[in-house]
Amino acid sequence: NRFVTIKNHINGAPNESDFEIRSETIYTESKQVVVKNMYVSVDPYQLNRMKSHSSSQAAINFSAAITLGQVIDAYGVGRVVASGRPDFTKDELVVGLLTWGEYTIVEEGRLLNKLDPMGLPLTHHVGPLGFSGLTAYGGFFQVCKPNKGEKVFVSAASGSVGSLVGQYAKIFGCHVVGCAGTQDKVNLLKEKLGFDEAFNYKDETDLKSTLKRYFPEGIDIYFDNVGGEMLEAAVANMNTFGRVAVCGVISEYTGGGRSAAPDMLTVVYNRVTIQGFLAADYLKCYGDFISTTAEHLRTGKMQALCDISHGVESVPSAFIGLFRGDNIGKKIVQLEMN
Ligand code: NDP
Repeated sequence: NRFVTIKNHINGAPNESDFEIRSETIYTESKQVVVKNMYVSVDPYQLNRMKSHSSSQAAINFSAAITLGQVIDAYGVGRVVASGRPDFTKDELVVGLLTWGEYTIVEEGRLLNKLDPMGLPLTHHVGPLGFSGLTAYGGFFQVCKPNKGEKVFVSAASGSVGSLVGQYAKIFGCHVVGCAGTQDKVNLLKEKLGFDEAFNYKDETDLKSTLKRYFPEGIDIYFDNVGGEMLEAAVANMNTFGRVAVCGVISEYTGGGRSAAPDMLTVVYNRVTIQGFLAADYLKCYGDFISTTAEHLRTGKMQALCDISHGVESVPSAFIGLFRGDNIGKKIVQLEMN
């Protein structure tokens, strides 16, 4: 089994030299399932797991710190190649917590479910029907508590979570503005995903006035994927009883940008709710999320943006690219070539 690991802890922006590909021989025991990984997810939160323990935030990461030289867990879709458990059989498709490698040995208790592709591409089950989708669905409907006609702002809007939030918001009947880091992404938001407006935040010098321009009547909902200055600018433009869902703060993960310090007096006077959340908080909506989203994808009301690299060697560059804005939509690595 060839797998990706980190050689050292990473406290700034990740580089190729931080990673290596290792090989191991797989020995299995009873009650284990061996999965051939087919498509695995590449996510920004993994960087927070790669920081040294002394690094800030380490204690509150989504999941455990990564041990140097060890396999790295990641959500994905695969096929069972051997099973010592009665509930899984050889050749079955599965979805769950796999690894950035060619195979995953799944111990009892680790997240693994049988996958019914429902006639949709397998990559959809890593992206819009996977954890990114649940994040967007739970975050938008449960945290943002939208009302029809409300004005919604989404950052990292062409990314995996952001592109889905914007589409849910449009289907629901909101006015949606997104920001992204290139003109091509901006065009895609407006022309393919149906956003009402979009702008390239890298072209703007004063984000507070930019948002004032796009939201002359104020923002009701801000779905925050980036934190930093964008969060400050959005808070400054929030309407009374507005909601800010803090999904992630990617601009703060590499230590390059400063931490957001929103004007708290605006929060008080405008009675703004700022709430962080994790996708796992919304597992209770899982059934609704899957049926609604699969239907939107089938009828073409929603578009799945998947950005696919190939082979285990491509995992480090795919991951590094997230922090440079290289990806459009859900970053996935395909590990099993057809
Ligand atoms: P994306 O697919 O959105 O990829 C990351 C994107 O972020 C890049 O393409 C880039 O787009 C943008 N970006 C990178 N660096 C910066 C920066 N310094 N400032 C502004 N934008 C930047 O990733 P995901 O959709 O997977 O994740 C989006 C956010 O959601 C992240 O913060 C992530 O940690 C969080 N998340 C939270 C979850 C939860 O349970 N709370 C679950 C999943 C994700 P651009 O070209 O626009 O700059």
